[in-house]
Amino acid sequence: MKICIDAGHYGRYNQSPADRRYYESELTWRLHLLQKRYLEEYGIEVIVTREDQKKDLGLYSRGAASRGCALFISDHTNAVGTVVNDEVDYPAAYCAIDGRADGIGMALAQCVEQVIGTGQQARIEHRRGQHGDYYGVLRGATAVGTPGLILENSFHTNTRITRWLLEEENVDRLARAQAETIALYYNIIKPLPEKKSGWVEEDGGWRFYLGNTGEPVRNDWYQDGGDWYWFDGAGMMIQNDWKTGSDGRWYFLGSSGAMVRSQWVVWKGELYRMTGDGSMYQGAICLQSDEKGALLIQKAVPEVNGKKAVTETEPEVNSRKKGQPETVPNTEGQKKDLPGKIPEAGADRQQKMTGKTVLRKQKEKQRIRRVRKKKNKKRRV
Ligand SMILES: [Zn+2]
Repeated sequence: MKICIDAGHYGRYNQSPADRRYYESELTWRLHLLQKRYLEEYGIEVIVTREDQKKDLGLYSRGAASRGCALFISDHTNAVGTVVNDEVDYPAAYCAIDGRADGIGMALAQCVEQVIGTGQQARIEHRRGQHGDYYGVLRGATAVGTPGLILENSFHTNTRITRWLLEEENVDRLARAQAETIALYYNIIKPLPEKKSGWVEEDGGWRFYLGNTGEPVRNDWYQDGGDWYWFDGAGMMIQNDWKTGSDGRWYFLGSSGAMVRSQWVVWKGELYRMTGDGSMYQGAICLQSDEKGALLIQKAVPEVNGKKAVTETEPEVNSRKKGQPETVPNTEGQKKDLPGKIPEAGADRQQKMTGKTVLRKQKEKQRIRRVRKKKNKKRRV
């Protein structure tokens, strides 16, 4: 369905005698843009007669711009002369004399009556001129075969109505209700937004959407592909930050967002050890060099406050070293430099690793999304 909307006047036109801040032309400009937005949410195509608020256009040509549309609406507010009149207060639809817009005209006028709460009842009117419709816009609309109406959103000579229409929130509510009325009248159902699922990069970060609800994980942990992630209240994945688990222990989310396990973390210049289950290690750690001089965490049981501290073994550190023999220092000079640089070296290694991990993770996320899309397609079929 296609609708043409016309903002009644241009520039600053028809100032209200009840409140000097109000111009009919400015209200109808704002209103018609909001109507367009809300109608588009129903999948309705909307064209407008004016591109420039400050430019005058002929009445007939504005109506005729609705060629191919199912409806033409010209937005206005009414006036009783040029002075304040707080008695007259009703919405009206001036419908084309061919009667084709009578039904929707009445529905829209009643919608205005309800939303604003006007003093008098909604009505429709017809006005015949010498060459058909009295109003040029309606003559133009009828000439191209479009049912046309002029919608008077009550009176800007009425103080209460003028003040009501000056509130942005009210205009928004009015536009939304009018779009709903149109959709209802033409039996158009708002399409449900497509449910998001899985990893989605948006708003400068990553969210994980649950397939069953289409809602992102918020203020909670989520395990994906063996890795744990944490999402804040806005559903954004947390990176490079600490989080406590339900067990009260500290966990670190690395640059890929995945919880770090069995790794060193350099945080604000201080070194932390994350254990195999991801929790932050507290207590004593015993480091011992192997035959190449590489420092390894050994199974050690030192006494801390009379209690035996638990330490962990690090087989993966060892195997990684073995897998990369070229990184083992092989000169005296380098070996001498090593001890003072351990945290830095650790940080460096951490950055290199997480840099790769980020890439890998992103590729993995893209792969997951592709697979999910395929699956979704299959399901639809
Ligand atoms: Zn007007």
